[in-house]
Amino acid sequence: MGLDTPSAVAVPDSELILAPTDAAGEVRAVKMPLVDRLASAVVTAAPPILVLLGMWFGWNHGLLVWQDLLVLAIFYMVIGTGITVGFHRLLTHRSFKCGRLLRAGLAALGSAAAEGPVIDWVATHRKHHQFSDETGDPHSPHLDDRHGWRGELWGFWHAHVGWVFSDMEVADERRYAKDLLADPWIRFVDRTFVLWVVLGLVAVFGLGVALTGTVAGGLTAMLWGGAARIFFMHHATFSINSVCHYFGRQAYDTGDESRNVFWLSIPTWGEAWHNNHHAFPTSYRHGLGRWQLDPSAAIIRLLEMTGLAWDVVRVDPAKRARKLAATSGA
Ligand SMILES: [Zn+2]
Ligand SMILES: [Zn+2]
Repeated sequence: MGLDTPSAVAVPDSELILAPTDAAGEVRAVKMPLVDRLASAVVTAAPPILVLLGMWFGWNHGLLVWQDLLVLAIFYMVIGTGITVGFHRLLTHRSFKCGRLLRAGLAALGSAAAEGPVIDWVATHRKHHQFSDETGDPHSPHLDDRHGWRGELWGFWHAHVGWVFSDMEVADERRYAKDLLADPWIRFVDRTFVLWVVLGLVAVFGLGVALTGTVAGGLTAMLWGGAARIFFMHHATFSINSVCHYFGRQAYDTGDESRNVFWLSIPTWGEAWHNNHHAFPTSYRHGLGRWQLDPSAAIIRLLEMTGLAWDVVRVDPAKRARKLAATSGA
């Protein structure tokens, strides 16, 4: 049984990414509160510092044990699924439907990645799709005025992590995420964002203690399954905005700079088929080709086969062929 069995639910013709279009074209900078800016700085800067400390202790004092790496791998995959399957494919693009509990559960899992509250994340990402590499895109590497390598480097830095601290990053939730604001379960998960980050760390500590039988084992697990996991996942997500709008192949003419980057497909859990994603934003699969690995799509397919997900959105093969032909003929 193939993963891309066609079904009745095809990508709608409009390819809209569900952002309200009433005031399309309007670009409005929103000031980011100082407290948000500080929180972003701490959440982005603390994990790499802790990872360096962890590497130092690990190598000099023999503190890195296999249990730490196992905890890191498990939590990277599980919480990563919260971001890719939950925040991105389900909540931003409505690539499938599921029950309220699973929907809120995926939102809570994604929150544990410390990438910001769910409604803010979704609003920012929908704005990215609406403006893709044009003025108004919160994190395009191609909007810097400077010329030459300086502009290129600065643009790349902005797309990777600089945007987190800029005013343009703030997308108006009432405009971009009206549907989520109207969902009390998602609003609850959004309001209690910090709780999910902390619970994620507590779970890491618990598994570390269970695997090693010591509190020290729980603490080193926190370093690797907590700080290192947050660091790696942040930069995997950031890479979609920077690397996948800069390097790699454009299979489809999407009118923007989105690209497919095969070597990032596993660490990003299938999200690095980013040109495919810009071509067919609502498709549950981003890896559209036979060998384009997409673990997130496999998880959604599994949820569908067990009856936990339905109305899974698939790309109409004829439409895909037309788009491919239009690109190669361009
Ligand atoms: Zn993009
Ligand atoms: Zn997207």
